[in-house]
Amino acid sequence: MKHVAHPPSRASFPVVAVLAGLLATGCGAPPQSASDGDAVDPGRAKIATAPHADWALAIHGGAGVVRSSVSPEEEPAYRASLEAALDLGSGILADGGTALDAVEAVIRTLEDDPLFNAGRGAVFTNEGTNELDAAIMDGSTLACGAVTGVKTVRHPITLARRVMERSPHIFFSGAGAEAFADEAGVERVAPEYFFVQKRYDQWRAVVEGEAAEAQGEPADDAEAQGGEDKHGTVGAVARDTHGNVAAATSTGGLTNKRWGRIGDVPVIGAGTYASNASAAVSCTGIGERFIEHTVARDVTARMEYGGESLQEAAKAEIHEVLEPESGGLIAVGADGSIAIEFNTEGMFHGSGDSTGQRSVGIWQ
Ligand code: ASP
Repeated sequence: MKHVAHPPSRASFPVVAVLAGLLATGCGAPPQSASDGDAVDPGRAKIATAPHADWALAIHGGAGVVRSSVSPEEEPAYRASLEAALDLGSGILADGGTALDAVEAVIRTLEDDPLFNAGRGAVFTNEGTNELDAAIMDGSTLACGAVTGVKTVRHPITLARRVMERSPHIFFSGAGAEAFADEAGVERVAPEYFFVQKRYDQWRAVVEGEAAEAQGEPADDAEAQGGEDKHGTVGAVARDTHGNVAAATSTGGLTNKRWGRIGDVPVIGAGTYASNASAAVSCTGIGERFIEHTVARDVTARMEYGGESLQEAAKAEIHEVLEPESGGLIAVGADGSIAIEFNTEGMFHGSGDSTGQRSVGIWQ
């Protein structure tokens, strides 16, 4: 694995400024969205340049996709879903809505879409269940909320937002998260709601591949991979016309995950991060690698402390820090610039901004 020099750690920065910043705007603080980007942590640099775009949005539908898993007949359906999600988020931002509202709305629609590994359509665990993780972060205040291992919440991203806005905490798991969903009025559904035959078949193929291997039979590569993509995840990052950024990510995790495994998605700084001082980032891929390198925070730290551009930071993280085939990320800078990087064969992605730029894609 290649390693690059990391930007200076927080420890090498004035402790007083960092502490003041944490006290002023620490993660979990009551979220008061900043207007016109004013509430940036005083210990952090403000983006001084004129914005590249008044509003910008990027979305992803997972980096686990390989060509053999998306038939020519299926590809238009994926593209149509991404287009619809982009339309929804772009409409909110163009109307002056907040980045937070835009990313939540985009994720909710992708959670309802059985094509993606989040909400309905989530992959199966080793126990044959669907266990969902999600996180959301407001770059204007550093407030954030996350949930893991929920089995009955239709929109885990909305639950994560409620955790951020209506609890003094940041990260809830399993039964506690579901009890909080009831308290916060977040819709719950029967676990069967998440069942999608294609995902179930993928899981069975993985289980059968493992059983065959244990018996000493050569593993059929395609089967061991679940016949196709083993992971997915959906993410959205945005900059709004008020100058604030936000990030949101939601997933069913990895097919056949065991023992209450938690991936990078709900781990703030690993799969999800946002700060008006730099960018909003949402990741997808093998969560363990993204946790090891705290990828989402690393991208923003490279910008804040190392002076790298959004593009440089995103490229370095995906193509130099991570091993090939680990995954990808989307990011929107506080200046409205957009970065989309992945080191897998494909990643469902799309982006649009107030300058009229718009694109949807899957392959490198
Ligand atoms: N990163 C997610 C996880 O490890 C999976 C994915 O993005 O496909 O849980």
